Parts: sequence; C-alpha cells; structure tokens
Amino acid sequence: MITDSIMDSQTITTWLASAAESIRAQSDYLTQLDGAIGDGDHGINMRRGFDAVEQALAGQNDSAPPGRLLIVAGKTLVATVGGASGPLWGSALRRAGRTLGDADSLDGKQLAVALDAALEGIVELGAAAPGEKTMVDALAPAARAMHEALDCGRSLEDATKAAAEAARAGAEATIPMQARKGRASYLGERSIGHQDPGATSTAIVIAALSGAVSSSQG
Ligand code: ADP
Ligand code: MG
Repeated sequence: MITDSIMDSQTITTWLASAAESIRAQSDYLTQLDGAIGDGDHGINMRRGFDAVEQALAGQNDSAPPGRLLIVAGKTLVATVGGASGPLWGSALRRAGRTLGDADSLDGKQLAVALDAALEGIVELGAAAPGEKTMVDALAPAARAMHEALDCGRSLEDATKAAAEAARAGAEATIPMQARKGRASYLGERSIGHQDPGATSTAIVIAALSGAVSSSQG
C-alpha cells in the first residue's frame, strides 16, 4: 500500500484502465450526445483510444515512472483516435506526463500542476476558451477545484473528488452554451440545449482518476 497523498505508476495504470472501463460502459451515451451536435462517433473514438491505452499500459515495464506512462498513453491516443478528441487528449496526457519527469511518485500539488499542463496542451492545440462548449469546460473547473481543495489543506483523495464533481458540473453547464469550436460550432445556435460530448467524456475520465486515487489510499 502506498503512503497517504501520493500517487505512483500503479495509480496511473488503475486510473486509465478504469477510465477505459467507464468509457466502454458509456460509449453509446457519448455517441448519442455526439449524434445530436456532431457526427456521432465520440463514444467510438474514445472507446477505441482508451482500450488501446489500457493495453499499452498493461504492456509497460513495472519500473516505468508515472510521467512515462502518461506520455505512452498520450501517444497511443494520437495514434488510434481519428476524431478531434484523439490529438486533444493525446496532447493533454503527453503534457501532463512531461511535467512529471522521471519521478516515481507524485503528490496532490504535482497532480494539480499536471492537470494544468493537460489543459494547456488542449488549449494550445484547439484554441478553445472557457464557455465555448468543449472539453475545456470540464477540465478547467476540475483543475481549479483540485488546486483550491489542496490550498485549503484537503487530502489528495478529497481534492480529486472535488475535481471530479467540478468536471461533472462543468460538463452539465455546457448544455445552454453555443458551440464555438469543433464540429458542433457548424450548428450555430442549434448546438444550444445539448450537453457537449467531449466535456462529458472528460468528466468520466476525471471521475476515474478520483476512483483510482481513492482505491489506492484505502
Ligand atoms: P470529431 O469532432 O472530430 O468527430 P470527437 O467526436 O471525438 O471528434 O470529439 C468531439 C469533442 O471534441 C467535442 O465534443 C469537444 O468537446 C471536443 N473538441 C472539438 N474541438 C475542440 C477544440 N478546438 N478544443 C477543445 N475541444 C474540442
Ligand atoms: Mg465526433
């Protein structure tokens, strides 16, 4: 059992395997959301990508550090996902991985900084601002909530729970937004009234992170 408030390579592997499992379970839902305002492939894209990530990480050496695993995961997403979400998530995970370097564990603050880096990677590639109905609307509040919780002295476990709740609320808050980026933006005002698929899958991935942290601390 690892010590309190620290994540290691096992936590990362558990996180991404559990993200893959949740995405498999909700793949039809994500595809339905994308059917309403996009081209109806988001569940398929994320499922293909995260299944490949799960496999790629299962084949990694036990001594591979967390940062290295995230870089492998990011590269795998870029290589396996055709839609916009592949390069965006790919860039996010590679950036997060690079900030961690070769350290064999990370604490809450380092995880919060890695989430910031993931967000920066997405914004650099996709140029979406908050409020434009994209995955940024789930990830930005998650990163912010993580920092705020840690700054208040809460544990890694509590902080990731706060991040997951913020991502969930952020995804829900995309419903009244008009899409300004990606395929959904072609619909103009008709994109209003639907939850963004990418923000929804982001909330699923952050919920899996919170679950993996909780199980590693238990
Ligand atoms: P595609 O749009 O190529 O079919 P997906 O369906 O897999 O790709 O992913 C769609 C999701 O990607 C959207 O719901 C949105 O959250 C996200 N997305 C699209 N463009 C951008 C962007 N420029 N910045 C951030 N996220 C974006
Ligand atoms: Mg799509």
